[in-house]
Amino acid sequence: MTRKQKILLIRIIAAAVTLAAAALIPADDKIKPFLFLVPYIIAGYDIIKRAAVNIIHGQIFDEKFLMAVATIGAWVLSEYTEASAVMIFFQIGELFESIAVGKSRKSIAGLMDIKPESAAVLRDGKEIRVPPEEVEKGELVTVRPGEKIPLDGIVVQGSSSVNTAALTGESLPRDIDVGDRVVSGTVNLTGAVTVKTESVYKDSTVAKILDMVENSSSKKARTENFITRFSRYYTPCVVGAALLLAVVPPLFAGEWIKWINRALIFLVVSCPCALVISVPLSFFGGIGGASRRGILIKGSNFVEALAKADTIVFDKTGTLTTGTFTVTAVHPEKMSEQELLSVAAAAESCSNHPIAESIIAAHGSDIDRARIGKVNEYAGMGVESQIDGEYIYAGNQKLMEKAGAVWHGCHIAGTVIHIAKKGEYLGHIVITDRLKPDAAGALKELKRLGISKTVMLTGDRTEIARRTAEEAGIDEVRAELLPDGKVKEVESMLRPGKPLAFTGDGINDAPVLARADIGIAMGAMGSDAAIEAADIVLMDDRLSAIPEAVRIARKTVRIVWQNIIFALAVKAAVLTAGALGYANMWLAIFADVGVAVIVIINAMRALSSGKVRK
Ligand code: ADP
Ligand code: MG
Repeated sequence: MTRKQKILLIRIIAAAVTLAAAALIPADDKIKPFLFLVPYIIAGYDIIKRAAVNIIHGQIFDEKFLMAVATIGAWVLSEYTEASAVMIFFQIGELFESIAVGKSRKSIAGLMDIKPESAAVLRDGKEIRVPPEEVEKGELVTVRPGEKIPLDGIVVQGSSSVNTAALTGESLPRDIDVGDRVVSGTVNLTGAVTVKTESVYKDSTVAKILDMVENSSSKKARTENFITRFSRYYTPCVVGAALLLAVVPPLFAGEWIKWINRALIFLVVSCPCALVISVPLSFFGGIGGASRRGILIKGSNFVEALAKADTIVFDKTGTLTTGTFTVTAVHPEKMSEQELLSVAAAAESCSNHPIAESIIAAHGSDIDRARIGKVNEYAGMGVESQIDGEYIYAGNQKLMEKAGAVWHGCHIAGTVIHIAKKGEYLGHIVITDRLKPDAAGALKELKRLGISKTVMLTGDRTEIARRTAEEAGIDEVRAELLPDGKVKEVESMLRPGKPLAFTGDGINDAPVLARADIGIAMGAMGSDAAIEAADIVLMDDRLSAIPEAVRIARKTVRIVWQNIIFALAVKAAVLTAGALGYANMWLAIFADVGVAVIVIINAMRALSSGKVRK
């Protein structure tokens, strides 16, 4: 409990005790009201004050106003016990709400538990502990077993394994060795390693994620905005109805006290606080539950959209496939195979496309960076690199046309990377990629969840694309697309009311991620571009996280509607009963606080949707 919550709790207890005392102490009718004034003021002074301040500022109709009017009215009718009790129970509801909100906010950051406390940085041959924020880019940081890796970087000494569970939900540790990239927020397990930092803390993965999670409540779902607007109209309507109830019937039938009493009960019941708090709280719970599974959602509007997602579009390379290609054939025109591979690797040496990385890995030995001059990467086509002063092209047929080289195809199935010198064809390399092991399963799951269409977009050749799609179980294929072609395809598929999700790996598809109703970036651990462009970020590259995300989103939205309907139904019932005279002030109080508590507990269920995998 925070200090504020503790103070509120003490006030509630003090008010309850003084209320009991006031009821029990025998005193004559002149003194009695003053005794009851004590608990009323202890419990309600801030509410009365707020209501008064709001009226001065012109915001008349909020729940504080309802409470103030109802209790002062009760006071006028000499219902002293009730007046104090309404205030006390209202405050119990407030306390409950504040604890629940605090808990869910903390639980997201806390469950993730990824913020590193300090970094042991080597300066002038000495190791000193500083907050991660004070470490510069390029410094050496020692991370011992059991510690969190404080900043993104490259291992320069030692080997170990890291637990990425807090970021990805994946419990299997990953081995790290000299030269490997490590990501802040993961936990070093077995050995001490020295890491050379690649960025300052502000730009590190962990800072970006925390920032995202903390700001996720600023993007509101439509249901949430609806409820806010709803209560803006609802409260004045209720106050109007109460006024009519207090005045109109007694004009005809008399019995003013009875009708004013009913109107006051009506006011107490009508307080919309349960509704107003439970909706954002449920969304918050869903976002928190998802984040435990390595699924980061940037706002409740995306939870709502994902729950209704109709079409899911996938990028091929690195998204449906692993993106680690193996070289299956090298077909040079004139030179030796080794020479062609070496030229290709040199040309690709500045690219971080999965194709480039695979060719560099197949080449094996180091590339002399000094030989490389200007480099141009054409997204969806390939690279143009100056090597020893000469332009070398490596990419698909579109790039060959650009280079003016006469290329020819290959009989071997796979992604063909053509290599050319200005105007002269040097040969090609055939590489193949594998479908991710969980791709087919994930797509089947999506179908079962009722996603009506799945589409694959790729810059690769139609043939390969068809085969991959068939293997994965994708409905439609659009191939040989440049990145802007992918944007156009996605635009042509957008339908109002039927959200479209695009899933990519963030490599040259950031524009598409941004254009789709829901942009899902996967394998984002460490990829800044993807984290920024996407609406939903999957920390690792499991495709099965997508159906999981859909399921969590649907559960969350279901809870939201359960709460709305339940709260409105109970309100309607008690309002009617109150107007007809079947409810007293006590029932009104319990209906209000009880509904708030039930609805908050139900909202917290959304948080448990992401149990950590065994
Ligand atoms: P996908 O749409 O499957 O994710 P990309 O749009 O990244 O693929 O690339 C489409 C095609 O462009 C690749 O299949 C390849 O032929 C070519 N290409 C892109 N980048 C490179 C590169 N760095 N080297 C060689 N070819 C490339
Ligand atoms: Mg791609």
